[in-house]
Amino acid sequence: MKGKTKQLKKCESCNGLGEERGVFDWLVCMTCKGLGEVLETGEALTDEQIIDGLRAKNRYLQYVIRETRKHTDHLQQQLDNFIRHR
Ligand SMILES: [Zn+2]
Repeated sequence: MKGKTKQLKKCESCNGLGEERGVFDWLVCMTCKGLGEVLETGEALTDEQIIDGLRAKNRYLQYVIRETRKHTDHLQQQLDNFIRHR
């Protein structure tokens, strides 16, 4: 995969929020381009690296949701069985 994850550190400009308080509104942090993380050198990732990273994070979260659902279904079955056999 291109742009494989490099070591990142929290963006100090926005304290990892990806946004900064402007005069009237919250603005996308220009230092990290809104990611909240920068390279060890303090530079922002390229747009492609940010997109790849977000895509990978999204895949991971979808996996977590699927696994959590399976686990919840299993617990619900156990609870149903328990109630049925009391
Ligand atoms: Zn930032």
